[in-house]
Amino acid sequence: MQDLSEMHEKCSQCGFDYARIDTERWLDNTARRVMCPVCGWTRLEEHHWPDGVPRLVKRTESFGFGAYRLVPPGGYSGYNAFHSSPDPEVIEHIRELLNKKGWKGYLTLWDQSVGRARLVEGSPLQKFDANGTK
Ligand SMILES: [Zn+2]
Repeated sequence: MQDLSEMHEKCSQCGFDYARIDTERWLDNTARRVMCPVCGWTRLEEHHWPDGVPRLVKRTESFGFGAYRLVPPGGYSGYNAFHSSPDPEVIEHIRELLNKKGWKGYLTLWDQSVGRARLVEGSPLQKFDANGTK
């Protein structure tokens, strides 16, 4: 059982305190992905553990252009991030699912002019506010 503080990390793009951490393990390797559900910022780290000591193999950081979560009626879905500016059709499609088709979730887009993500549609399903102010 991991401590809550180990499951979250501060986003280094928008400063949201609860960027989500996912980890994977296979053979002598581990991968750790940190994704901010507010702005979409993502960092991926891969370690190789040849003799019980972690060696960093790869570390990439992707700027977030927004994030979304789309949960179909009766279904489940995780969080997704935009790592480039999404096409207007993609945004329109997500808005339609949330507005007219009864899907739950939210859509944020990074607003370069103010340097923060703004909630475009829907509402976050977690207690954490999408504006990162709580
Ligand atoms: Zn962020």
